[in-house]
Amino acid sequence: MNLYPVNTGYFKLDGGAMFGVVPKTIWSRTNAADSNNMCSWAMRSLLIEDGKRLILIDTGMGTKQDAKFFGYYDLHGDDSLTKSLNKHGFTEDDITDVFLTHLHFDHCGGAIKKNENGILVPAFKNARFWSNSQHWDWAVNPNPREKASFLKENILPIQESGQLVFIDQTKEIFHPEIDILTVNGHTEAQMIPHIKHKGTTVVFAADLLPSIGHIPLAYVMGYDTRPLLTMEEKAKFLNDAADKNHTLFLQHDPKNETCFVQHTEKGVRLKEVAPF
Ligand SMILES: [Zn+2]
Repeated sequence: MNLYPVNTGYFKLDGGAMFGVVPKTIWSRTNAADSNNMCSWAMRSLLIEDGKRLILIDTGMGTKQDAKFFGYYDLHGDDSLTKSLNKHGFTEDDITDVFLTHLHFDHCGGAIKKNENGILVPAFKNARFWSNSQHWDWAVNPNPREKASFLKENILPIQESGQLVFIDQTKEIFHPEIDILTVNGHTEAQMIPHIKHKGTTVVFAADLLPSIGHIPLAYVMGYDTRPLLTMEEKAKFLNDAADKNHTLFLQHDPKNETCFVQHTEKGVRLKEVAPF
């Protein structure tokens, strides 16, 4: 099995929103903000090649919305999903499976594109798209708080294409070497893949742990719908990662692709960062 990081570009989010109750005097030491208080974040997907299937975990935000939309989020940098796939010798048509941790726009927007006639179609025409029914229902009937993150144009065309599979409603196991942890603090039923790889476990941490700046327990994003639950889930997740020396693949960390954590007197903390 080969794993490849796929950077789909950088975007900006409000630093305060990303760190919840943590004051700027603290988070700005590691994440510099611009004059609008916005910090730069990666949208890093993971590609898994196992000889038979080519699995992409999350897709970044895509390119189909208008300039006004991208103005809010300041999509920037030289990387794009297509370029990063090409760099590893692949195209969108080679992807057999797109696994969506959850349906917030910065995770699933790249799943759907506008074709030459302006019609919304899957960007991966040969892929099955994996979600779960609980999260899907949550996303298509969004609460007012998450409404701006669950965009109908990113979500509904996946189902209309007939390429959608709910992991909880099929008898098929997603992948024998990939276990899925489901967590509910950030949003309902976010899925965190744990990939067995060369004697270790690589965890796609998604929005359970967006960056190394989010390792201390209270550093929870303001976006999380159930922050106290995130803290419980993160404590368990980080303890497990420290016990077993998991490789934590960081989707949003602007600088670090992966990290390892360790037990300390203060709780679980960063051990080291590493390029993937
Ligand atoms: Zn999210």
